[in-house]
Amino acid sequence: MELLCVIVVAIIIIWIAVKASGGNNNYRNSCGECRYRTTWSTQSQAERDIVEHYRNSHPDIDPGGRQHYRGR
Ligand SMILES: [Zn+2]
Repeated sequence: MELLCVIVVAIIIIWIAVKASGGNNNYRNSCGECRYRTTWSTQSQAERDIVEHYRNSHPDIDPGGRQHYRGR
């Protein structure tokens, strides 16, 4: 019974560690105007990156393109 508790605690610790070490970095945005893609990141960070890219590379075009989600 104690062994079961240890296993459960270990699984929870591993799960938290995976979450903390970029487990949410499952989003990237691709540019609609060129082949640029953001790195895998959080949803909000990927959106900030693509807006920044449009501002630098396509200043006359509203940010667009596609968002990609990588499932686990
Ligand atoms: Zn672009």
